Amino acid sequence: MKLSLVVPCYNEEENVELFYKEVAKCFEGKIQDYEFVFVNDGSKDKTMKKLKEIYKNRKSDNVKLIGFSRNFGKEAAIYAGMQQAEGEYTTIIDADLQQRPEVVVQMVQILEENEDYDCVAAFQEKRSEGKVLTFLKNSFYKIINTVADTEFISGASDFRTFRTNVREAILSVSEYHRFSKGIFSWVGFETKFIPYVAEQRNAGTSKWSFRKLFKYGMDGIISFSVAPLRMATWAGTICAELALIYMVIIFLQKLFFGIDVPGHATIVTLILFIGGVQLFFLGVLGEYISKMYIQEKNRPIYITRETYGIEED
Ligand code: UDP
Ligand code: MG
Repeated sequence: MKLSLVVPCYNEEENVELFYKEVAKCFEGKIQDYEFVFVNDGSKDKTMKKLKEIYKNRKSDNVKLIGFSRNFGKEAAIYAGMQQAEGEYTTIIDADLQQRPEVVVQMVQILEENEDYDCVAAFQEKRSEGKVLTFLKNSFYKIINTVADTEFISGASDFRTFRTNVREAILSVSEYHRFSKGIFSWVGFETKFIPYVAEQRNAGTSKWSFRKLFKYGMDGIISFSVAPLRMATWAGTICAELALIYMVIIFLQKLFFGIDVPGHATIVTLILFIGGVQLFFLGVLGEYISKMYIQEKNRPIYITRETYGIEED
C-alpha cells in the first residue's frame, strides 16, 4: 500500500460521498495504490450510513471504516485512523473538502522526490476568517511559542502527509489529551511546509465554536508547557518583595515622622489583590491536576462500536 488517507468525520453526511469521489477522480493516473480509513466520530446525522454505503459499493478493496461509540473528538479519530493505516505514506485530511486532494498529490510527490523529508505539512498562507479570530490565533501562537519548548508554526494544520516512521512515532505518544499540532513538532523529523488555500466548506458547518477553540488552545499550552505553574513562583516572589519594601516604608514613616498610615483601604485592597492572585494560581494548579487525574485513570483514547474492512487481531 502506497498511501493511506485518514479521514475523521463528524456530522459530514453531505460531504463523505463527494469527498470519496473527488479523491478517486483527482488521484486517477497519479496515485494508484491508496486506501481510505474513515473514522466516524460518533456523528449524530447519517454519516455512518453514508460511510457504510461507500464501503458496500467500493470498487476495490481500499476502504476501511471505524465507527466510534460516541463523539471522542477529532484528535481521537485521527489516532484511531492512524492505527489502521497501512500505507507507506499517511495523510490526515478533513472530510469537508476544505483541503483539496490535489494538495495530497503534491505532498506525495515531494516525499517521493526528496528522501530528506519525512513529513510534508500544509499551512494556510491567508486565513479566510475574520480579523478578530485571526488576531487571536496569531496571539495564541506567540504565547505558546514563548512558553513551550516545542515549536508551533502559525497556520500549520494537521493536514499532512508523512512516512511510516513519523506515523509510528505519533502513535507511540499515547497521551489522553491530544494536541496534534504539538505532537507533530514534538516527535520531530524533517518537515517541509507548503502553503495551501483552504476552500469553503462543501456542506455543513464547522465544529469549532469560539469556546471550543479557546479550550483547545488552553489544552495545548498546558500539554506542552509548565510555564503557567512557574508563573506562580514569580508572582509570589514579586508580591512578597513588594510587601517587604512596603513594610519598611511604613516602619520608617512611623518611626521618624510619626505618620499614622491609614489602614482600612490599604488592607482591603491588598487582601483582595493577594486573594485574587492566589485563587488564580490555584486554578492553574487545578488545570494540571485535572489533566493528571484523567491521564492517571488510563482510559482508552476512544471506543469502537463497529468496524468494516479491518481484520481484528
Ligand atoms: N471532526 C471530528 N470530530 C469532531 C469535530 C470534527 O472528527 O469532534 C472532523 C470533521 O468531520 C472534519 C474535521 O474534523 O472532517 C475538521 O473539522 P471542521 O471542518 O469542523 O474544522 P475546521 O475546518 O472548521 O477547522
Ligand atoms: Mg473544515
